[in-house]
Amino acid sequence: MEIEAWWLILVPLVFGLGWLSARVDIKHILADSKLLPRQYFEGLNHLLNERTDKAVEVFVDVARHHSETIELQFALGHLFRRKGEIERAIRMHQKLLARPELKGAEKQTAQYELALDFMKAGLFDRAEELFARLDDTDLSRAARRHLLDIYQQEKEWKQAISTAQQLRDTSHTYQHEIAEFYCELASQAITRSQPAEAQQYLQQALGEHRKCVRANLLLGDLALAEGRAEEAIATWLKIESQDHRFLPFAAPKLLDAYDRLGRAEEGTNLLKGFLNSYPYLDMLDLVYERIARQNGVETASDYLSEQLRLNPSLPGYAKLLEARAITAPVERKADIEGLRKVILENSRSQAMYHCAACGFKARQYFWHCPACSEWESFLPARGQLKP
Ligand SMILES: [Zn+2]
Repeated sequence: MEIEAWWLILVPLVFGLGWLSARVDIKHILADSKLLPRQYFEGLNHLLNERTDKAVEVFVDVARHHSETIELQFALGHLFRRKGEIERAIRMHQKLLARPELKGAEKQTAQYELALDFMKAGLFDRAEELFARLDDTDLSRAARRHLLDIYQQEKEWKQAISTAQQLRDTSHTYQHEIAEFYCELASQAITRSQPAEAQQYLQQALGEHRKCVRANLLLGDLALAEGRAEEAIATWLKIESQDHRFLPFAAPKLLDAYDRLGRAEEGTNLLKGFLNSYPYLDMLDLVYERIARQNGVETASDYLSEQLRLNPSLPGYAKLLEARAITAPVERKADIEGLRKVILENSRSQAMYHCAACGFKARQYFWHCPACSEWESFLPARGQLKP
């Protein structure tokens, strides 16, 4: 194959151009890096070595002498907020916002950052106002998420509902959160003695999320308070198919309703039936107390012992020992009581409610975790070895 002569000239020319363009790039980078003040790298070094205070000192100095470095001012503001120096962060972002040359996305970012400062300082009204102004911008979604947090902290449930509805998409439907917000509205209406309004909210909760157990618990309460015990029972029985882990919450209510109808035994038998499928300790406790009242402690203890053989649990055995101590001969009482105390001491955490999201433990059940703000993250069953 014959190669034409001009091709031979073209090859070194291409290489030459490549070399030249690389030189131009390197020169450009070197020129850029010379523009950065030396202290900038000093600050970066402190930051990388986790000497935040030193880094801040250096960066503040750089920012003072190079006011054109807007990104640096943003980074500093962020750093102040993270360090808990909220007032300094607020001043920095307010100064940035006051700059007339700040326009478009940079202005919105400054507003967003200032709103975060206010939020961290607990100045929710001012944060809310700034976040709301970011509607129809690239930051609107992030701002709405913070607004949702604010409305929840301030118990502004109606605004929380509309914000969550705006945020909902295929990855997060906010169904169970919105249903919980309706339940909160219903609880407020119940406190104000407005049962009809509460009922409406609870129906809306179920419309949003048909598995909302809390709505049925409250609907049953409303029905029982108005003397409709049969309706209350039917409502609470729905919980079995919604989420049977919440049956221990419905159990004492069901027994109360059956008692009011004069059908106490039917109530006890219903719970015994549930226990065959769902051996929740709180429910077992209730049945034990009922049997002890109706048939004596001995029969109740035998029932408890049989159930614990099938589903052992430490708090359950502590309860059994308490029962056995009642009927035991005097000389054995002290030993049994001692053993019961040791078991209780070692199973204390099992007798508490746990948040499945963050591990927070509490004696009281929370629908909204006070530690991580998740909804319905507390496990309703306690003391189970096998849930
Ligand atoms: Zn939690």
